[in-house]
Amino acid sequence: MEIPYKYYLPAEDMPAAWYNVRADMKKKPAPLLNPATRQSVTAEELEKVFCSELVKQELDETLPWFEIPGPVADFYRMFRPSPLVRAYFLERALGTPAHIYYKFEGNNTSGSHKLNSAIAQAYYAKLEGLKGVTTETGAGQWGTALSMACAFFGLDCKVFMVKCSYEQKPFRREVMRTYGASVTPSPSMETEVGRKINAEHPGTTGSLGCAISEAVETAITHEGYRYVLGSVLAQVLLHQSIIGLETQKALRNLGVKADVIIGCAGGGSNLGGLIAPFVGEKLRGEADYRFIAVEPASCPSLTRGKYAYDFCDTGKVCPLQKMYTLGCDFIPSASHAGGLRYHGMSSIISELYDQGVIEARSVRQTDVFEAAQFFARTEGILPAPESSHAIRAAIDEAKRCKETGREENIVFGLTGTGYFDMTAYQAFNDGKMSDYIPTDEELAAAAPRG
Ligand SMILES: *Cc1c(COP(=O)(O)O)cnc(C)c1O
Repeated sequence: MEIPYKYYLPAEDMPAAWYNVRADMKKKPAPLLNPATRQSVTAEELEKVFCSELVKQELDETLPWFEIPGPVADFYRMFRPSPLVRAYFLERALGTPAHIYYKFEGNNTSGSHKLNSAIAQAYYAKLEGLKGVTTETGAGQWGTALSMACAFFGLDCKVFMVKCSYEQKPFRREVMRTYGASVTPSPSMETEVGRKINAEHPGTTGSLGCAISEAVETAITHEGYRYVLGSVLAQVLLHQSIIGLETQKALRNLGVKADVIIGCAGGGSNLGGLIAPFVGEKLRGEADYRFIAVEPASCPSLTRGKYAYDFCDTGKVCPLQKMYTLGCDFIPSASHAGGLRYHGMSSIISELYDQGVIEARSVRQTDVFEAAQFFARTEGILPAPESSHAIRAAIDEAKRCKETGREENIVFGLTGTGYFDMTAYQAFNDGKMSDYIPTDEELAAAAPRG
């Protein structure tokens, strides 16, 4: 079959349910722990912070399928299916025998895959009769996606935005405000934990961990509010499985068997969503794939972190999660891939990595932007810096195929567009981009004990 340049899944093939990969994992990810008691957290404890339907999804390790609610499926129709593109132009420019495919999630106003989970989380908050939700945002994509989702369901949305992004990306902030969200730079003076972090680290430009703590505190102290998170959690990977399910069905329709599947990894949600159904096939012994997680060398949680229980946030208000982590006190250098600056990793991705089901590698910022530029010039899409980590690895894999003459099928997740990242592109174009890589001493200082 002739593979089209762009393939959209027909309506009748659209997934009706999300897939929970934990159902197929013999050894499950370790449970979340209550930091005070060191016992598994209970649904009641989590419901103080999260919506109850989402708590159910978070704690369910056995149910493989969760039906996508009608209003969420309706919203998905605004921007799904997302296209699966055969990167003919990139292949030709590389002179590789490999066939490269990418699943493009940037075709919506928020510009990334985050809308897939934002709309689900806003829907459950509305269903529960809440007034609004609080959250953090790093680079701004999650905050933007959540603002859109909250506007759709008429919910209030309070966003704590990592200070360096707030200053670097004023237009992101304005998109959020256009959708009705309030945006506060973090660490702020509005929360107890924000005031504490500001006092301990004067002049800090913030981190996702700090912003999470502020958002959680705000949810707990405001009647009718709950906290929602854009990555890391099992529920978010569940919603993001829509990416992988569409990809799996599309490849089947095209008669293509993937060899390598690649995704960038910040908290692990796009990667987890993209690979979930394929991991399921691998775990059930139906097919074999290589999975590659790509992370920034400046924030290398899988490749240089420790697999241990750690806090998901700097303020230590969230439950403990067992994951590959650099330590919740680790504040990464102000890299341009804001969405990948997280100290930890999804517990599902962490466990799969620990079991050897997936591989991981880290890449340097300038190499990432070189790949981004090459991709923009060949395939036409201006990619997000985060997504460009996956592009870098896909190009490197395609070059390996060129050396070995192997005609492999490489699939990668192109998570978003880079329109709001022009400061980063400017630094690269001006030759002023740095490649900060933390030293072993710096990592040791922040590493979790125990
Ligand atoms: C947030 C984000 C990421 C990283 O988050 P994950 O949870 O690891 O997927 C990657 N790409 C884009 C465009 C993002 O906005």
